[in-house]
Amino acid sequence: MVEGVRPPALATYWLIQGRILFMVIPFLGSALFAYIVARRLTPLIRAQRDFRFDRPLIRLARVLRFWLGQWRHPRYRFAGTMHILIFAGFILLATRAFTLLVQGISPNFVMPGLAGEAGRMYGIITDYAATVVFFCMVIAVIRRAVFTPARYAVLARYGKGHPVDAIFLLALIAILMLADSLFLASKAAADAQQGQSAEFLAALSLPWMLKGALASTSMAKLQTLYLGAFLSHELTFFFLLCYRPFGIQFHVETSLFSIYFAKLDREILKPVRWGVADEHLDRVKSFGVKSFEDFTWKHMLDFYSCADCGRCSDNCPSNAVGRPLSPRFLSIKARDYAFQHYPVFSSSRTGNGKPLIGSIYSEDEVWSCTTCGACEEECPLLVEYIDKIVDLRRGLIDDGNVPQSLQKPLKALESRGNPYGKMEKKRADWAKAAEFQQLCHVKNLDKSDGAETLYFVDSITSYDDRMQSIGRATAKILDHIGENFGILGAAEKDSGHEVRRFGEEMLFMALREHNVGAIKNSGVQRIVTADPHAYNALKHDYKDVPPVDHISQVIAREVKTGKIRFNPVEEDRVYTYHDPCYLGRHNQVYDDPRDVLDAIPGLKRVEMTRCRDRSFCCGGGGLMLFYEPKEDQRMGVKRVQMAAEAGANVIVTACPFCMVNIEDAIKVAGLEGKMIAIDLAELVDQQMARA
Ligand code: SF4
Ligand code: SF4
Repeated sequence: MVEGVRPPALATYWLIQGRILFMVIPFLGSALFAYIVARRLTPLIRAQRDFRFDRPLIRLARVLRFWLGQWRHPRYRFAGTMHILIFAGFILLATRAFTLLVQGISPNFVMPGLAGEAGRMYGIITDYAATVVFFCMVIAVIRRAVFTPARYAVLARYGKGHPVDAIFLLALIAILMLADSLFLASKAAADAQQGQSAEFLAALSLPWMLKGALASTSMAKLQTLYLGAFLSHELTFFFLLCYRPFGIQFHVETSLFSIYFAKLDREILKPVRWGVADEHLDRVKSFGVKSFEDFTWKHMLDFYSCADCGRCSDNCPSNAVGRPLSPRFLSIKARDYAFQHYPVFSSSRTGNGKPLIGSIYSEDEVWSCTTCGACEEECPLLVEYIDKIVDLRRGLIDDGNVPQSLQKPLKALESRGNPYGKMEKKRADWAKAAEFQQLCHVKNLDKSDGAETLYFVDSITSYDDRMQSIGRATAKILDHIGENFGILGAAEKDSGHEVRRFGEEMLFMALREHNVGAIKNSGVQRIVTADPHAYNALKHDYKDVPPVDHISQVIAREVKTGKIRFNPVEEDRVYTYHDPCYLGRHNQVYDDPRDVLDAIPGLKRVEMTRCRDRSFCCGGGGLMLFYEPKEDQRMGVKRVQMAAEAGANVIVTACPFCMVNIEDAIKVAGLEGKMIAIDLAELVDQQMARA
């Protein structure tokens, strides 16, 4: 009969003493892991600079929230809960795994602080942790292999997904948990058979169940299982460690860093080159990203960190309407590229300087993005997309690859300061309608009348016949609340918001310089605009200009002070509010427009399923109006259908570009006469109680 079970350190495996074997495996495993990671870091070292070392306390707080706290995971309830359980299990089991590794060398090792009752408690917790992780892995494997969520699907145009890799890794983690539990269970079963006091195993946990199953197993078999489980745990642990950097589970290692270094000011675009001031941009030889090595190191780290969960693409409006863009695959393709061109086990590097457009990305893919930010809002690992896409566009523009339909508006912006090519002197014509002038006088600050507030109109509201009504409504609201305001008139040029996001940095800088000069000359103390794109540009892209408000914020404030009161709505309609991306997601103005709507007596409001930070882009503003993407359906049409599903027949928005897209979509969707769109400013002007 075997006298108890021998610990792995004192056992012999194929003539090798356990202690030696379990010294060699961790040493080789750790050394190989260090080598692999060092190789994976090679492209990051060759990448462009990126300044991510500022504000360490804020970054640490974000690590606690998004990494340790798994903040974004519950947005997908089932998958998110599973991930939180697995992550918590890993954190709890880390100490147990370390203890096991040391016990391979020193059998009586106990983690300091975990002797006695504390160790017993920790044992119970980790028994349950291993059980939960094991069953989560089983569910995850079944989910990946059998009940695959639609968001994991891979269209042929994006290349290949990595389902086998995902399933293999999930199975390995399940094996790790099983080995860990079997190790404890076989020891406990042997101790029990020998009448020794066995280690307490948490009731109904995996080790507890296994111990029950092994109750009548012979001591010799228990010894084999005990040693085999330990060896399996050790080998699986180090195999996983070294295998993860070859696939989607590399995020286990990189996510903490990519969250720590994630962009803090999401609404501000990255500069053309970190460390090169705007006034020195003429010294930069090549703009944007053309080859893989033009990405910054943080953007490459993002590629490694993407967990291939598909949440970004699931929320991407371009992907939803069949445009050739899926943000998830921007990362996956770049990671595959990095793995192929910077191999771990070969000294050949074949990636240097090859153009990405035409090899892994297409031009249409890069132009299809509306910069709506839905992908970034959703990603649990804070992977960034807008900066990368804008950088790829900068590269295209730098090489003269401007889409045909955008060439004219860009030229017009250069020569006339607006994308329509209209005369500068006609910019203030919207305010000259006789009927309007009887109600409200708009000062033209270009003609030296002073004012405290500037109403920055921007191009679409100035020149588009339909949108001019938003301009007039905004002016009437400002007039009603007694604001001393004026416009720049011919001295205003396009804010350049979309120009910048289309990658034309130099043109944007020229527009900005002109507008900043005009704003400073006007002597105003604050700015109001009804255009979220202008709002975002003035607030984040411009420097040294007075504070800026969107008109919805002004109205919400004045509703609270009582300066704005409303007449009840008369028609029995159902309203829904569509969040413009650059007001909502990019600037977190979600409540003010809703508060205004809710202050109108008798107004019935419903929410669309996709609202607030999950709002669905209308199709993109600015120059997107001039771009003709390949798509199966218009985004606006999808949005209008969402409003209809919510039971609404009035879509309220707070952006002239949303208005263009939504009104157009109502016609295309065949809902004319059943559904209308109105801007918040127009609705307020219509319902405002005047003395
Ligand atoms: S970028 Fe983020 S959301 Fe998109 S697939 Fe990767 S991890 Fe998921
Ligand atoms: S910013 Fe919007 S359109 Fe662009 S990739 Fe992200 S979700 Fe898609």
